[in-house]
Amino acid sequence: MLAFTHVAAGCASSLLVAEYMHATPVQTILIMAGGIIGSHLPDIDHPKSAFGSRILPLSIPISTVFGHRGITHSLLAVAGMSWLIWWSLYHLHWHQGYAVPVVAGVATGYLSHLAGDWLTNSGVPLLWPSKRRFVSPLKLCTGDLREYLLAFAMYGWVIFECTRVFAP
Ligand SMILES: [Zn+2]
Repeated sequence: MLAFTHVAAGCASSLLVAEYMHATPVQTILIMAGGIIGSHLPDIDHPKSAFGSRILPLSIPISTVFGHRGITHSLLAVAGMSWLIWWSLYHLHWHQGYAVPVVAGVATGYLSHLAGDWLTNSGVPLLWPSKRRFVSPLKLCTGDLREYLLAFAMYGWVIFECTRVFAP
């Protein structure tokens, strides 16, 4: 799945979570920022991905040890990343009213990435270290027309909802 689509899914899913949490506009921005960041994080294991290519000192060793779509594409990684961010923000003395939205956003964006990759032929090893890959019965080929339609639909909905949420 393309980074363009992962970001769309990260935005849309985190905006849904913000609405579910009855977040304030500031909290909504934090949740969505977390969602965008989280939607990139799993591909830290791919040195040629949009995200991994920007942090080669991390992506190359992770890719070498675990391979692409290994541990970083698992529920264990979602839990570990959420805990790490929570722990970091706690020690940075972030107010809970801001730390919780960031963690919720990152976890949501991360999960949206896994859901996106689940829709592709390769699937995702959600229960890593088990090697079993979970694959959707309805598949998308990376970069095909259906993926672009899905991404544009999500961006359209996000823009529509943002004009409502952030309306003066
Ligand atoms: Zn991925």
